[in-house]
Amino acid sequence: MDTSKLHEYLISLKLAEYRYKQIVKNYYSGRYQSFSQMTDLPKDLRADLEQKFSLLSVSEIKLLEGSDTKKVSLKLSDGLAIESVLMDYDQWLTACVSSQVGCPLNCAFCATGKMGFKRDLSSEEIIDQIIYWNSKIFPKYIGRIVFMGMGEPFLNWDNLLAALKIIKEDLNIGSRKISISTAGIVPRIYDFADLDTEINLAISLHAPDQPAREKIMPIARQYPFEDLIKSLNYYTAHTRRQLFLEYALIKDVNDSQEHLNELIKLLKSNFLFYLNLIPLNPVKDGLIPSPNLKAFTDALSKNHLNFSLRQTFGQSINSACGQLITENKV
Ligand code: SAH
Repeated sequence: MDTSKLHEYLISLKLAEYRYKQIVKNYYSGRYQSFSQMTDLPKDLRADLEQKFSLLSVSEIKLLEGSDTKKVSLKLSDGLAIESVLMDYDQWLTACVSSQVGCPLNCAFCATGKMGFKRDLSSEEIIDQIIYWNSKIFPKYIGRIVFMGMGEPFLNWDNLLAALKIIKEDLNIGSRKISISTAGIVPRIYDFADLDTEINLAISLHAPDQPAREKIMPIARQYPFEDLIKSLNYYTAHTRRQLFLEYALIKDVNDSQEHLNELIKLLKSNFLFYLNLIPLNPVKDGLIPSPNLKAFTDALSKNHLNFSLRQTFGQSINSACGQLITENKV
Protein backbone atom coordinates (compact mmCIF):
# COMPACT_ATOMS: atom_id res chain seq x y z
CA MET A 1 0.00 0.00 0.00
CA ASP A 2 1.14 3.51 -0.74
CA THR A 3 1.07 4.86 2.81
CA SER A 4 1.58 8.48 1.78
CA LYS A 5 -1.59 8.37 -0.33
CA LEU A 6 -3.47 6.91 2.62
CA HIS A 7 -2.08 9.65 4.82
CA GLU A 8 -3.24 12.38 2.44
CA TYR A 9 -6.68 10.84 2.25
CA LEU A 10 -7.06 10.60 6.01
CA ILE A 11 -5.97 14.22 6.36
CA SER A 12 -8.61 15.22 3.80
CA LEU A 13 -11.17 13.47 6.01
CA LYS A 14 -9.80 15.41 8.98
CA LEU A 15 -9.14 12.21 10.82
CA ALA A 16 -6.79 12.31 13.72
CA GLU A 17 -3.18 11.27 13.17
CA TYR A 18 -3.59 8.26 15.43
CA ARG A 19 -5.90 6.67 12.85
CA TYR A 20 -3.19 6.84 10.27
CA LYS A 21 -0.69 5.31 12.67
CA GLN A 22 -3.14 2.61 13.63
CA ILE A 23 -3.89 1.62 10.03
CA VAL A 24 -0.24 1.63 9.01
CA LYS A 25 0.59 -0.51 12.03
CA ASN A 26 -2.17 -2.92 11.08
CA TYR A 27 -0.90 -3.01 7.51
CA TYR A 28 2.71 -3.75 8.45
CA SER A 29 1.64 -6.35 11.03
CA GLY A 30 0.73 -8.80 8.27
CA ARG A 31 -2.33 -9.73 10.28
CA TYR A 32 -4.89 -8.46 7.81
CA GLN A 33 -5.66 -9.26 4.22
CA SER A 34 -8.15 -6.42 3.83
CA PHE A 35 -9.32 -3.24 5.54
CA SER A 36 -12.64 -4.88 6.36
CA GLN A 37 -10.84 -7.26 8.72
CA MET A 38 -9.52 -4.33 10.79
CA THR A 39 -12.20 -4.47 13.44
CA ASP A 40 -10.40 -1.85 15.51
CA LEU A 41 -11.55 0.76 12.96
CA PRO A 42 -15.02 2.30 12.72
CA LYS A 43 -17.20 0.31 10.34
CA ASP A 44 -17.79 3.19 7.92
CA LEU A 45 -14.12 3.90 7.61
CA ARG A 46 -13.36 0.25 6.92
CA ALA A 47 -15.88 0.17 4.10
CA ASP A 48 -14.67 3.48 2.72
CA LEU A 49 -11.01 2.41 2.69
CA GLU A 50 -11.91 -0.94 1.20
CA GLN A 51 -13.46 0.90 -1.70
CA LYS A 52 -10.76 3.51 -2.23
CA PHE A 53 -7.54 1.59 -1.56
CA SER A 54 -6.18 -1.88 -1.83
CA LEU A 55 -4.29 -2.99 1.22
CA LEU A 56 -1.73 -4.76 -0.92
CA SER A 57 -0.44 -3.64 -4.33
CA VAL A 58 0.03 -7.30 -5.30
CA SER A 59 -2.50 -10.11 -5.49
CA GLU A 60 -2.00 -13.84 -5.55
CA ILE A 61 -2.34 -15.54 -8.94
CA LYS A 62 -0.94 -18.93 -8.05
CA LEU A 63 0.75 -20.38 -5.00
CA LEU A 64 2.97 -23.46 -5.32
CA GLU A 65 4.07 -25.32 -2.22
CA GLY A 66 7.17 -27.50 -2.09
CA SER A 67 8.58 -29.18 1.00
CA ASP A 68 10.83 -26.33 2.11
CA THR A 69 9.90 -23.53 -0.26
CA LYS A 70 6.74 -21.88 -1.49
CA LYS A 71 6.57 -19.80 -4.64
CA VAL A 72 3.87 -17.34 -5.55
CA SER A 73 3.02 -15.50 -8.75
CA LEU A 74 1.75 -12.08 -7.87
CA LYS A 75 -0.24 -9.76 -10.07
CA LEU A 76 0.58 -6.07 -10.04
CA SER A 77 -1.94 -3.28 -10.51
CA ASP A 78 -1.05 -2.89 -14.20
CA GLY A 79 -1.60 -6.59 -14.88
CA LEU A 80 2.08 -7.57 -15.02
CA ALA A 81 3.25 -10.44 -12.84
CA ILE A 82 6.26 -11.27 -10.69
CA GLU A 83 7.33 -14.20 -8.56
CA SER A 84 8.36 -14.29 -4.94
CA VAL A 85 9.65 -17.17 -2.83
CA LEU A 86 9.39 -18.19 0.82
CA MET A 87 12.13 -20.43 2.17
CA ASP A 88 11.73 -22.38 5.37
CA TYR A 89 14.88 -24.29 6.10
CA ASP A 90 16.48 -22.87 9.18
CA GLN A 91 15.85 -20.67 12.15
CA TRP A 92 14.43 -17.79 10.10
CA LEU A 93 11.71 -17.76 7.53
CA THR A 94 13.25 -16.08 4.53
CA ALA A 95 11.53 -14.17 1.73
CA CYS A 96 13.30 -13.99 -1.61
CA VAL A 97 11.93 -10.86 -3.23
CA SER A 98 11.94 -9.49 -6.76
CA SER A 99 13.11 -5.97 -7.52
CA GLN A 100 12.03 -5.68 -11.17
CA VAL A 101 9.50 -7.23 -13.53
CA GLY A 102 11.83 -9.38 -15.62
CA CYS A 103 15.48 -8.35 -15.90
CA PRO A 104 17.50 -6.42 -18.48
CA LEU A 105 20.78 -8.30 -17.89
CA ASN A 106 20.04 -11.52 -19.74
CA CYS A 107 22.61 -13.80 -18.10
CA ALA A 108 22.89 -17.02 -20.10
CA PHE A 109 22.08 -19.29 -17.17
CA CYS A 110 19.10 -17.44 -15.73
CA ALA A 111 15.46 -17.93 -16.71
CA THR A 112 14.39 -14.44 -15.64
CA GLY A 113 16.51 -12.76 -18.31
CA LYS A 114 14.70 -14.73 -21.00
CA MET A 115 11.43 -12.93 -20.32
CA GLY A 116 13.02 -9.55 -20.99
CA PHE A 117 12.67 -6.44 -18.89
CA LYS A 118 9.28 -4.82 -18.29
CA ARG A 119 9.77 -2.27 -15.53
CA ASP A 120 11.12 -1.51 -12.08
CA LEU A 121 9.05 -2.39 -9.05
CA SER A 122 7.98 0.45 -6.77
CA SER A 123 9.11 0.30 -3.16
CA GLU A 124 5.57 -0.61 -2.11
CA GLU A 125 5.53 -3.52 -4.58
CA ILE A 126 8.80 -4.74 -3.07
CA ILE A 127 7.45 -4.40 0.48
CA ASP A 128 4.08 -5.94 -0.36
CA GLN A 129 5.77 -9.19 -1.37
CA ILE A 130 6.93 -9.46 2.25
CA ILE A 131 3.56 -8.44 3.67
CA TYR A 132 1.87 -10.94 1.38
CA TRP A 133 4.00 -13.72 2.92
CA ASN A 134 3.46 -12.43 6.45
CA SER A 135 -0.29 -12.45 5.96
CA LYS A 136 -0.10 -16.01 4.62
CA ILE A 137 1.88 -17.34 7.56
CA PHE A 138 0.58 -15.15 10.39
CA PRO A 139 1.34 -15.39 13.36
CA LYS A 140 4.67 -16.55 12.03
CA TYR A 141 6.60 -13.90 10.16
CA ILE A 142 9.45 -13.34 7.76
CA GLY A 143 12.71 -12.82 9.65
CA ARG A 144 15.15 -12.55 6.78
CA ILE A 145 15.03 -10.98 3.34
CA VAL A 146 17.15 -11.77 0.31
CA PHE A 147 16.98 -9.64 -2.84
CA MET A 148 17.57 -12.63 -5.09
CA GLY A 149 14.30 -12.84 -6.96
CA MET A 150 13.63 -11.39 -10.38
CA GLY A 151 15.57 -8.37 -11.51
CA GLU A 152 18.72 -6.45 -10.69
CA PRO A 153 18.24 -4.55 -7.41
CA PHE A 154 21.11 -2.13 -8.10
CA LEU A 155 19.36 -0.95 -11.28
CA ASN A 156 16.35 0.04 -9.18
CA TRP A 157 18.41 1.94 -6.65
CA ASP A 158 16.02 4.58 -5.30
CA ASN A 159 13.16 2.17 -4.78
CA LEU A 160 15.55 -0.36 -3.26
CA LEU A 161 16.73 2.20 -0.70
CA ALA A 162 13.16 3.24 0.10
CA ALA A 163 12.17 -0.41 0.58
CA LEU A 164 15.20 -1.10 2.80
CA LYS A 165 14.21 1.78 5.06
CA ILE A 166 10.73 0.32 5.53
CA ILE A 167 12.09 -3.21 6.04
CA LYS A 168 14.31 -1.96 8.84
CA GLU A 169 12.08 0.63 10.47
CA ASP A 170 8.57 -0.74 10.01
CA LEU A 171 9.08 -4.47 9.58
CA ASN A 172 11.85 -4.46 12.21
CA ILE A 173 14.20 -6.69 10.27
CA GLY A 174 17.81 -5.85 11.14
CA SER A 175 20.42 -5.10 8.49
CA ARG A 176 22.32 -8.32 9.17
CA LYS A 177 19.19 -10.26 8.24
CA ILE A 178 19.03 -8.63 4.80
CA SER A 179 21.09 -9.66 1.77
CA ILE A 180 21.27 -8.04 -1.63
CA SER A 181 22.64 -9.81 -4.66
CA THR A 182 23.94 -7.91 -7.68
CA ALA A 183 25.30 -9.03 -11.02
CA GLY A 184 27.97 -6.35 -10.62
CA ILE A 185 26.75 -2.81 -11.31
CA VAL A 186 30.13 -1.33 -10.38
CA PRO A 187 29.23 2.31 -9.56
CA ARG A 188 26.49 1.09 -7.25
CA ILE A 189 28.90 -1.22 -5.42
CA TYR A 190 30.87 1.89 -4.44
CA ASP A 191 27.66 3.67 -3.46
CA PHE A 192 26.57 0.67 -1.43
CA ALA A 193 29.91 0.50 0.39
CA ASP A 194 29.59 4.19 1.19
CA LEU A 195 26.20 3.64 2.82
CA ASP A 196 28.08 2.07 5.75
CA THR A 197 25.33 -0.42 6.32
CA GLU A 198 25.50 -3.89 7.80
CA ILE A 199 23.29 -5.27 5.05
CA ASN A 200 25.01 -8.24 3.39
CA LEU A 201 26.18 -7.96 -0.18
CA ALA A 202 26.51 -10.85 -2.62
CA ILE A 203 28.00 -10.66 -6.09
CA SER A 204 26.94 -12.97 -8.88
CA LEU A 205 30.48 -13.60 -10.07
CA HIS A 206 30.16 -16.93 -11.93
CA ALA A 207 33.58 -16.67 -13.55
CA PRO A 208 37.15 -16.00 -12.38
CA ASP A 209 38.16 -13.87 -15.37
CA GLN A 210 36.84 -11.54 -18.06
CA PRO A 211 36.67 -13.95 -21.03
CA ALA A 212 34.59 -16.56 -19.18
CA ARG A 213 32.40 -13.96 -17.52
CA GLU A 214 31.70 -12.10 -20.73
CA LYS A 215 30.43 -15.28 -22.35
CA ILE A 216 27.66 -15.80 -19.84
CA MET A 217 27.02 -12.33 -18.42
CA PRO A 218 26.58 -9.51 -20.96
CA ILE A 219 26.90 -6.95 -18.13
CA ALA A 220 30.62 -7.85 -17.98
CA ARG A 221 31.12 -5.93 -21.23
CA GLN A 222 29.89 -2.77 -19.57
CA TYR A 223 31.73 -3.38 -16.29
CA PRO A 224 34.88 -5.42 -16.97
CA PHE A 225 36.19 -7.97 -14.52
CA GLU A 226 39.12 -5.89 -13.33
CA ASP A 227 36.91 -2.91 -12.50
CA LEU A 228 34.48 -5.19 -10.74
CA ILE A 229 37.21 -6.69 -8.53
CA LYS A 230 38.53 -3.20 -7.76
CA SER A 231 35.08 -2.20 -6.53
CA LEU A 232 34.86 -5.37 -4.41
CA ASN A 233 38.21 -4.60 -2.81
CA TYR A 234 36.97 -1.10 -2.10
CA TYR A 235 33.86 -2.57 -0.49
CA THR A 236 35.77 -4.89 1.83
CA ALA A 237 38.41 -2.27 2.72
CA HIS A 238 35.75 0.31 3.47
CA THR A 239 33.26 -1.89 5.34
CA ARG A 240 35.56 -4.63 6.67
CA ARG A 241 32.67 -6.97 6.03
CA GLN A 242 32.70 -10.34 4.39
CA LEU A 243 31.61 -10.26 0.76
CA PHE A 244 29.80 -13.21 -0.78
CA LEU A 245 30.77 -14.30 -4.28
CA GLU A 246 28.28 -16.56 -6.02
CA TYR A 247 29.62 -19.04 -8.52
CA ALA A 248 27.35 -21.52 -10.27
CA LEU A 249 29.50 -24.24 -11.77
CA ILE A 250 28.65 -24.74 -15.46
CA LYS A 251 30.07 -27.47 -17.66
CA ASP A 252 32.71 -26.24 -20.13
CA VAL A 253 32.10 -22.62 -19.22
CA ASN A 254 33.72 -21.88 -15.87
CA ASP A 255 34.75 -25.30 -14.53
CA SER A 256 38.22 -26.04 -15.97
CA GLN A 257 41.46 -26.47 -14.00
CA GLU A 258 42.56 -22.99 -15.18
CA HIS A 259 39.31 -21.49 -13.96
CA LEU A 260 39.85 -23.21 -10.63
CA ASN A 261 43.40 -21.84 -10.37
CA GLU A 262 42.21 -18.33 -11.17
CA LEU A 263 39.42 -18.63 -8.65
CA ILE A 264 41.83 -19.75 -5.92
CA LYS A 265 44.12 -16.83 -6.76
CA LEU A 266 41.21 -14.43 -6.49
CA LEU A 267 40.06 -15.82 -3.13
CA LYS A 268 43.60 -15.70 -1.77
CA SER A 269 43.89 -12.06 -2.78
CA ASN A 270 41.28 -10.95 -0.22
CA PHE A 271 40.36 -12.91 2.87
CA LEU A 272 37.02 -11.14 3.13
CA PHE A 273 35.87 -12.82 -0.08
CA TYR A 274 33.61 -15.73 0.78
CA LEU A 275 32.69 -18.08 -2.02
CA ASN A 276 29.23 -19.57 -2.40
CA LEU A 277 29.65 -22.40 -4.82
CA ILE A 278 26.29 -23.26 -6.39
CA PRO A 279 25.33 -26.30 -8.39
CA LEU A 280 23.68 -24.88 -11.51
CA ASN A 281 19.91 -25.09 -11.41
CA PRO A 282 18.54 -26.34 -14.69
CA VAL A 283 16.78 -23.82 -16.86
CA LYS A 284 15.25 -24.72 -20.20
CA ASP A 285 17.49 -24.88 -23.30
CA GLY A 286 20.15 -23.98 -20.83
CA LEU A 287 23.64 -24.84 -19.84
CA ILE A 288 24.68 -28.05 -18.14
CA PRO A 289 25.70 -28.40 -14.47
CA SER A 290 29.41 -29.16 -14.18
CA PRO A 291 30.60 -32.62 -13.16
CA ASN A 292 33.64 -31.00 -11.53
CA LEU A 293 31.96 -29.81 -8.36
CA LYS A 294 33.94 -32.16 -6.13
CA ALA A 295 37.27 -31.23 -7.72
CA PHE A 296 36.45 -27.59 -6.94
CA THR A 297 35.38 -28.18 -3.33
CA ASP A 298 38.40 -30.45 -2.68
CA ALA A 299 40.85 -27.87 -4.00
CA LEU A 300 39.19 -25.01 -2.11
CA SER A 301 39.30 -26.99 1.14
CA LYS A 302 42.90 -27.96 0.60
CA ASN A 303 43.76 -24.29 0.20
CA HIS A 304 41.85 -23.42 3.40
CA LEU A 305 39.63 -20.95 1.59
CA ASN A 306 36.33 -19.58 2.84
CA PHE A 307 33.56 -21.20 0.92
CA SER A 308 30.36 -23.13 1.20
CA LEU A 309 28.53 -25.33 -1.19
CA ARG A 310 25.09 -23.85 -1.43
CA GLN A 311 22.36 -26.39 -1.17
CA THR A 312 19.66 -25.74 -3.63
CA PHE A 313 16.05 -25.76 -2.60
CA GLY A 314 12.87 -25.49 -4.48
CA GLN A 315 13.82 -27.04 -7.81
CA SER A 316 10.69 -29.17 -7.76
CA ILE A 317 8.50 -26.06 -7.99
CA ASN A 318 10.99 -24.08 -10.12
CA SER A 319 11.60 -21.65 -7.31
CA ALA A 320 15.37 -22.04 -7.08
CA CYS A 321 17.90 -19.33 -8.01
CA GLY A 322 17.58 -18.27 -11.59
CA GLN A 323 14.33 -20.13 -12.17
CA LEU A 324 11.88 -17.30 -11.66
CA ILE A 325 9.95 -16.33 -14.75
CA THR A 326 6.43 -15.12 -15.48
CA GLU A 327 4.48 -14.80 -18.66
CA ASN A 328 3.49 -11.20 -19.17
CA LYS A 329 1.22 -10.85 -22.12
CA VAL A 330 0.11 -7.36 -21.19
N1 SAH B 1 20.37 -9.69 -10.56
C1 SAH B 1 20.85 -10.03 -9.26
C2 SAH B 1 19.77 -10.63 -8.40
C3 SAH B 1 19.26 -11.96 -8.89
S1 SAH B 1 19.69 -13.09 -7.72
C4 SAH B 1 22.04 -10.93 -9.38
O1 SAH B 1 22.37 -11.32 -10.49
O2 SAH B 1 22.71 -11.19 -8.40
C5 SAH B 1 19.57 -14.59 -8.48
C6 SAH B 1 20.77 -15.39 -8.09
O3 SAH B 1 20.63 -16.69 -8.72
C7 SAH B 1 22.03 -14.79 -8.64
O4 SAH B 1 23.12 -15.07 -7.80
C8 SAH B 1 22.20 -15.56 -9.93
O5 SAH B 1 23.49 -15.48 -10.39
C9 SAH B 1 21.77 -16.94 -9.49
N2 SAH B 1 21.36 -17.80 -10.60
C10 SAH B 1 20.75 -17.43 -11.75
N3 SAH B 1 20.50 -18.49 -12.52
C11 SAH B 1 20.96 -19.56 -11.85
C12 SAH B 1 20.97 -20.94 -12.13
N4 SAH B 1 20.46 -21.42 -13.25
N5 SAH B 1 21.52 -21.76 -11.21
C13 SAH B 1 22.02 -21.27 -10.04
N6 SAH B 1 22.02 -19.99 -9.72
C14 SAH B 1 21.50 -19.13 -10.62
